[in-house]
Amino acid sequence: MPSKYVIHTKQIDHRFEPLTRSGIIAWEEGCLKCPVCVKKECVYGVYEKRELNPGQMIDSIDNKCMSCLRCVQNCPGQLIQKSINPEFMEMGDTHWTPDIIARLWYQGETGKIPVSGAGYPGPFSGPGFDSMWTDMSEIVRPTRDGIHGREYISTGVDIGSTPKNLVFDKEGRMVKNESAIIDIPIPVIMRAPDFGAISGNTIKGWISAAKKLETLLAIPVKRIIPEFLKLSAHIIPVISSKDIEGLNINEHVRMVEYIWDEKGASNLKKVKKMFPEALISVRLYLDGDFEKKAMEIFEAGCSIINLEGSYNGRVRDDASIYMKDAIRRIHLAFVEKGVRDEMTLIASGGFSMAEHIAKSILCGTDAVYVDFPILIALGCRMCHRCEQGIPCPVEIDNASIKWVAARTINIIGAWHNQLLEVMGAMGIRDVRRLRGEVGRAMFFEELDKNIFGSLNRVEEGFELE
Ligand code: SF4
Ligand code: SF4
Repeated sequence: MPSKYVIHTKQIDHRFEPLTRSGIIAWEEGCLKCPVCVKKECVYGVYEKRELNPGQMIDSIDNKCMSCLRCVQNCPGQLIQKSINPEFMEMGDTHWTPDIIARLWYQGETGKIPVSGAGYPGPFSGPGFDSMWTDMSEIVRPTRDGIHGREYISTGVDIGSTPKNLVFDKEGRMVKNESAIIDIPIPVIMRAPDFGAISGNTIKGWISAAKKLETLLAIPVKRIIPEFLKLSAHIIPVISSKDIEGLNINEHVRMVEYIWDEKGASNLKKVKKMFPEALISVRLYLDGDFEKKAMEIFEAGCSIINLEGSYNGRVRDDASIYMKDAIRRIHLAFVEKGVRDEMTLIASGGFSMAEHIAKSILCGTDAVYVDFPILIALGCRMCHRCEQGIPCPVEIDNASIKWVAARTINIIGAWHNQLLEVMGAMGIRDVRRLRGEVGRAMFFEELDKNIFGSLNRVEEGFELE
């Protein structure tokens, strides 16, 4: 049995104080001067430790407060209040919500799984991946524990085309298999996001993290500078048809991604010729008749397809189709054709939580690309200022290589542990067995139809007696 894959995480402090969901407002006016002020009774010593961060002009009180509301409830003059921070609530958008961003910050800082001590207060169903649940029927079995070492759970996946069977010569010796694969110990490949205050050091930090995590980082070929190629085995150059002429990468890369377009099939041959030793993956933008296009890519001889959805986890030209459904449709199209095992499907676009890895694999991918979470782990607020040429409020571009690498390892470590938790609770010991295993998932639409479908629709305005 191979040695256990463990991602070692450690506390890596924020460079800038993060925005908090709520703040404390404490009025002095009208103070009754109680013999023992409620501020002195704060078990976290928030008021005693209070200080001003002169660089950022931030009062530490909001970040230190644990929102137990003790001081709010006990002040007889009702002079202390907690209020929602509008700056926090304005972060991100409907997909990259303030809560998701804050949880990613936490995971980047601590490398730990975020837990909600007071239980989950939200709805139990929503759009996209929120409309599916995993069958955690083995959750009561304490032995299935991949995090703490009591049972081995493999998260390793093979990228490429695995052989259908072993071949032996007349003497019974195994014939060397020509198919090339890359095996990575976690079904996650990282990718430089489409925007962000990203400097050379940021990318070097991500490459360094990819090396430590034994995975890869995809970078548009235009952004690659010679220094990055020192760790070329952990880089996936992303090439469009415009980049092919004049492409000059002589270092050994294990995988290359080509962006599919109308010249796809002929350019694919050129790319293969340029990188004879590398695996070639094709990025398919999910729009139009994406199942047909995926089939064309396979027929053009490419066994690795990256299904690229939109920034907010949907098909790019149809916001009503979520990644969950697009992945299932493509996976099933290849299953029906009888070629699913000859290829690798990777998905990207809008993966914002660790559970999305397990859910994407359940829907039919082998692995996922993670892009914005590795930027948010560095403190990004998804404010888009960098896209407008305005300086980044948390100066991500000035962060050191070491800090970027450590925060990136933390977020992937926290996600890896969550994947182990899910698989342990499902009783699945190998992530390769999770692929397309929809029998171990429940889909809201199907349950709704099966349970309530026979009841017919109730006409609007009809009153039940
Ligand atoms: S709400 Fe609780 S943690 Fe926050 S300052 Fe008041 S007593 Fe301290
Ligand atoms: S915080 Fe804003 S400016 Fe900085 S990288 Fe993120 S989106 Fe860009």
